[in-house]
Amino acid sequence: MSGLLEGKVALVTGAAAGIGRASALAFAAAGARVVVADIDAEGSTATVQAITQSGGEALFVRVDVTKAPDVTALVARTVEHFGRLDCAHNNAGMLGTVAPLIDSPDDNFDRVMDVNVKGVWLCLKAEIRQMLAQGGGAIVNTASSAGVKGSPTLPAYSASKHAVVGLTKSVALAYARDGIRINAVCPGYVDTDLLDRLFAGEPERKESERRGTLLGRFGSAEEIAATVVWLCSDAAALMTAHALPVGTVV
Ligand code: NAD
Repeated sequence: MSGLLEGKVALVTGAAAGIGRASALAFAAAGARVVVADIDAEGSTATVQAITQSGGEALFVRVDVTKAPDVTALVARTVEHFGRLDCAHNNAGMLGTVAPLIDSPDDNFDRVMDVNVKGVWLCLKAEIRQMLAQGGGAIVNTASSAGVKGSPTLPAYSASKHAVVGLTKSVALAYARDGIRINAVCPGYVDTDLLDRLFAGEPERKESERRGTLLGRFGSAEEIAATVVWLCSDAAALMTAHALPVGTVV
């Protein structure tokens, strides 16, 4: 992947852990300077250290993606520090309650929508304003396989990820002729802390779900990150408005 994004500036939300951390590292390995954005300062600092130790350049900006002033400041700080914004991976997300509808509290719906949908909405706005001013860019939103098919014990999460797919397609159509490409990745199960939370206390169910996966295994965060970097590169110049399943069929 080396050199695919040489000289570019990339921003990754949810970069303190899991898929976001792997994505930040993959952007750096591809030659980009990286803004590591997350609400978790400790995990983000570890991501920045991992990038600098491999010879890359990274900056941590603390952000709560549900807060518009935070998100505006994130893009402003990116441009102030690195001069521009070429690639963005809107990846911060949460699972919320794992239960069928009537056992899921209403405030879980509000929180999951706030982080997973409003967070992406706010990030897209701030990023696109900057990309329009520059004349182009590429954005990838992390949706999920649960964003294209139902999930009986994750009704709010699945609804939020369907919304991310709808947002991605709509916004991509609006800005295609401005040189801004916007896609979503829809990963199946990926081996991160989020997956541990999904199957907490149910190792047998985790194992049975693993056996049922398309490839007979869970994806790795690095494999999702490689797809994100490719979608942001000129190698994917014709790709926009897609919701791309990764490691799964939907
Ligand atoms: P993770 O829990 O390991 O990482 C999520 C990151 O998002 C954390 O660093 C967390 O601090 C950050 N975050 C949460 N709320 C935030 C907020 N309000 N502001 C800023 N940062 C915030 O999870 P992951 O598995 O790496 O998931 C990353 C994305 O991938 C999520 O959107 C998730 O829904 C999606 N996804 C994960 C899987 C999977 O199986 N792991 C599958 C499909 C989609």
